Amino acid sequence: MSQKFDHPYLFIPGPVEVRREILDAQGAWMIGHRSKAFADLYARLQAPLKESFGGGDAHRVYIYTSSGSGIWESASRCCVRDDKTVLHLVNGAFSERWAGVSRENGKQVDVIEVPWGQAVKPEQVADALKAKAYDAVAVVYNETSTGVLNPLPEIAEVVRQYPDTLLLVDAVSCWMGVPIKAVEWGVDIVLASSQKALALPPGIAFGCISDRVLARAKEIPFRGYYFDVVTLEKHHEKNNTPATPPISLMYAAERQFKDVQAEGYPARFARHEAMAARTREWVTSRGFEMYSEAGYHSPTVSTVRNSRGIDFPALQAFLSAREISLGGGYGKIKAETFRIAHMGDTMPEHLEALLTSMDEFLGA
Ligand SMILES: *Cc1c(COP(=O)(O)O)cnc(C)c1O
Repeated sequence: MSQKFDHPYLFIPGPVEVRREILDAQGAWMIGHRSKAFADLYARLQAPLKESFGGGDAHRVYIYTSSGSGIWESASRCCVRDDKTVLHLVNGAFSERWAGVSRENGKQVDVIEVPWGQAVKPEQVADALKAKAYDAVAVVYNETSTGVLNPLPEIAEVVRQYPDTLLLVDAVSCWMGVPIKAVEWGVDIVLASSQKALALPPGIAFGCISDRVLARAKEIPFRGYYFDVVTLEKHHEKNNTPATPPISLMYAAERQFKDVQAEGYPARFARHEAMAARTREWVTSRGFEMYSEAGYHSPTVSTVRNSRGIDFPALQAFLSAREISLGGGYGKIKAETFRIAHMGDTMPEHLEALLTSMDEFLGA
């Protein structure tokens, strides 16, 4: 039996494996969040964060003491006026939930719904925007339930034709694994969590926010407090946060961005592509099928249709005896799919160890 891992290694789509060096970076002594040392730390994180989102002079990156879902609330509440509507592009469990969050915040919501496993196409967005004026379009770049990477650059090109329509992007499960170009694509909010392709522990989230968002927010009463961008901006200008931030996770982020710089973004993105391609090759050569539509496979997570009808809980138990945690299906496709995450600091050799163990389970 091949045993590679000496602790539970996570191939689930979040939280993902966190390296020892990153865990240790959290152990630095505390500083007060109103100290100069904290303002310096906050300021030092801006450049690498902005670069990671492709943000420019009209963007800033807020640090949210929440998981990524908190920024859904921020985006929905601060970008949609009471007499206007937000258009949600829905093709899986996460995009469906974000639309729900907008509704639960009292917003008027229209949806473009496409069957799970398919990508939302730019023509569908073009048709919707022709028919009605929207305050914002909300899209999940990488649908973690179905393993679909939506064609965001093409969708963004459509939305750019409408200057009053903000583009809000959930990049939670692909940021740091695929390029994000907020300026070039005209994205107003890109939101992301720490525990996916950045490979940090959970508990901190990042929102790249445009000037247009702040201008819109000022037209909207009752934006709340904790996720209000106007409040966040006031403190951001002083390299600070309204409430106590997750300081240990900021230490970890600073360390991780140094390592990301050392690898380089092109190499990091190529590594994700290569692991995704290897996973797809394994999936099809072992008689399974990809759940995601051809041409739109995610570089960070592969959703596999269990077309061989294997006993998935038995596979999970087999892997867990080898300190491997594999992702099950999610939402309404839980029973018919499973998911292999290949993101963050997972290296091709880690993936090979997983695939070898899966082969041993299958008796291949
Ligand atoms: C994980 C995930 C979320 C939820 O993020 P949290 O950090 O758990 O709040 C939202 N959207 C997508 C696409 C995700 O993969």
